[in-house]
Amino acid sequence: MEKLFDLAIVGGGYAGLAAANRAAQLGLEAVVLERGAEEAYPCNSRYAGGVLHVSYHNVTDPVPDLTRAIVEIGEGWTRPELASAMAGSSARAVDWLIAENTKAGSQYLQKLNIAKIASGGHSQGSISTFAFAGMDTRLTTTIHVAGGSFDGNGYRNLKKPTLYIGGSGDTLALSNTKRDYENTNNVPVFLTVIEGASHTSAARDGWTPIVAWLRWHLGDEVQRKSMFIGANCDFCTGKFVSQSKGW
Ligand SMILES: Cc1cc2nc3c(=O)[nH]c(=O)nc-3n(C[C@H](O)[C@H](O)[C@H](O)COP(=O)(O)OP(=O)(O)OC[C@H]3O[C@@H](n4cnc5c(N)ncnc54)[C@H](O)[C@@H]3O)c2cc1C
Repeated sequence: MEKLFDLAIVGGGYAGLAAANRAAQLGLEAVVLERGAEEAYPCNSRYAGGVLHVSYHNVTDPVPDLTRAIVEIGEGWTRPELASAMAGSSARAVDWLIAENTKAGSQYLQKLNIAKIASGGHSQGSISTFAFAGMDTRLTTTIHVAGGSFDGNGYRNLKKPTLYIGGSGDTLALSNTKRDYENTNNVPVFLTVIEGASHTSAARDGWTPIVAWLRWHLGDEVQRKSMFIGANCDFCTGKFVSQSKGW
């Protein structure tokens, strides 16, 4: 039988695409079989908050702690050997990414600036960003979209300027997002509530302030500050109902 590929991978989410990339790096010919036909086929990876975490724990935590966290959150459904495999691989993923930044021939060569790091996420990803902010002193800023902390204490972990984004139609997280803003008294903070945005749409409705914020804080485009702070700020008019303090 004619050999067409070395490896067939089912599913084009993070897991499948990462496996295919790694296989290609190791010299194998891989094919990804994805059942979604549309260009932006739905999968969990497309909706993820973007923060790398393992059951809301830092991926570099000790393997037994991560394994325990995965098993606990699984309410009896978790297969311990898979939890252990995931816990053991997570920190390696971060090490791999940083190593790729300096590796000759890598497509990520010198594309990562690890001196300036933003962390952010949507919904659960926002909540885990509070945890991340408490653990990682290298962060330059954090962004929290449609995800307030459950106990109102998430702000205690913040150390750097913080962006909160909510949606006026978000019945899940808006009240907690507003409470986080009210509670935050330790860092400069900006909150915008986007008129008409839902829990889900807040992330895409908020992409213009998110990009401007990152260009300001990571790209040193200090002129972007006036888009957020001051009488005529861009993200304080129209659909953006905003407040700021601590600047
Ligand atoms: C709203 C939301 C926010 C999240 N936030 C975070 C976060 O901030 N941080 C975090 O670490 N995790 C987060 N997660 C979890 C994270 O998104 C998932 O753990 C991760 O994306 C799973 O990746 P995956 O590749 O295993 O699955 P998926 O991304 O779901 O990919 C599976 C793919 O397989 C395809 N498929 C399924 N069956 C077949 C078949 N029979 N044949 C062919 N193709 C098939 C599907 O169409 C899909 O494209 C979040 C999840 C959601 C929903």
